Amino acid sequence: MQNIVNRSIYFQCSSCTNKGEIDEVVFKGGINDEGGFILYCNQCNTTFFIEAQNPIHNIGVGSRIIGNNFTVKDITDFSWSNNYPTAREIITTTGQDSNPIFKNAWQVNPIFSINHNDKIFICSECKNNIEKEVFNDLENNLDLINNDYEGCFQAYMRDWYNPNIISFNSSTNCSECKREIEYTAYSKFSTLEKRYSKEDFFIVDTQKFEPNINGVYTREQCKRILEKFILRWNLLASNIIIVSPFIGFDKKLSIKNPDKFNELLKWFLSLDTFKKFQITIRKSEYGKIREVFSKETFKLYEGYNLLNENIEKVNSSTTKFHAKFYAGIIPDGTNSYVEVLTGSYNLHPSSESKENLTFTQMSFQDFKRNYLDPMKIPMSEPCYSVSTEILKIPINESEVVIKPKDVKDIVNYNF
Ligand SMILES: [Zn+2]
Ligand SMILES: [Zn+2]
Repeated sequence: MQNIVNRSIYFQCSSCTNKGEIDEVVFKGGINDEGGFILYCNQCNTTFFIEAQNPIHNIGVGSRIIGNNFTVKDITDFSWSNNYPTAREIITTTGQDSNPIFKNAWQVNPIFSINHNDKIFICSECKNNIEKEVFNDLENNLDLINNDYEGCFQAYMRDWYNPNIISFNSSTNCSECKREIEYTAYSKFSTLEKRYSKEDFFIVDTQKFEPNINGVYTREQCKRILEKFILRWNLLASNIIIVSPFIGFDKKLSIKNPDKFNELLKWFLSLDTFKKFQITIRKSEYGKIREVFSKETFKLYEGYNLLNENIEKVNSSTTKFHAKFYAGIIPDGTNSYVEVLTGSYNLHPSSESKENLTFTQMSFQDFKRNYLDPMKIPMSEPCYSVSTEILKIPINESEVVIKPKDVKDIVNYNF
């Protein structure tokens, strides 16, 4: 089969505000026909031209017009062989663009950064960081992981399962005290057949999870610690609460350093792998993002409803607060609980500047009363989305894919 890349082309009629979309098919490394569509606008009766590769009417593989706003009058082989006016406000995207304000732009996985100084995943006995040991164990088990994935992938192709996550339960030994430690790691279930490597995985939990992080850190460390907690919550939590008054530096500095600001936003947005973020950031930050990306570009994306939904959430945030906390709400029947990371660190790029961080755990009721209610953040009883399906490796006969009801369905061992 040819390697096909799908791109979306968004456009506006040459003379009115009627908007349309093309699902553009491009053959990677193959022969692509230049051309486009002659379209009739069903709103203002204008006929105009929009360029697209490999255009087709109905049958076969090629680019096509989505929706009923326009009628295809003709298809041209060459973009210069017509005298019609052309479409306006054109945006082309593959959905993987480097521009973080784009909806779905950051579907890429972040990478777990192994660092011996992070006391999050540690041996319950000697408090030694065991990230390296876990990744060595993952590497030793790649054949098992890939065999089980391969089997499930065939079932996925037959529509028997629709997993979005692979979780891997195993154990390793602490390199210091040799104690055996059970752990859970996960990755996204790839709907494009692939071979997994250890870098595709994130550590999510260890038996007796007792992080020992309360203290003072540089912003570089804070950013990495927050990242590891969010990666953990991506699997274990039903909701991830982000309360940070600011994103990075002030408006002036952000406009002066758009690349740095862009990097930070990209990092932050890419962490929301399973769309669990609930964000509260000062409303003024929305205006800042608008200016950094130029109001015109922003308006253009907004017009096509192409803004990243997490940026839209910033727009509905509140004005006055200085509290900072990050939390994962973990469903566990009537005993649902919340892990909270709190301190002076707000979403900020790496630097040597010092901040303090504290990790604490409490019942959902306490968290709601003490953190959510004062911030007026609405929240119903925690539960996993019904669309969460996890392929649990090693495959247990009774459960190839599970739909978790509470956190005990995800990790096997006792807390
Ligand atoms: Zn029109
Ligand atoms: Zn140990």
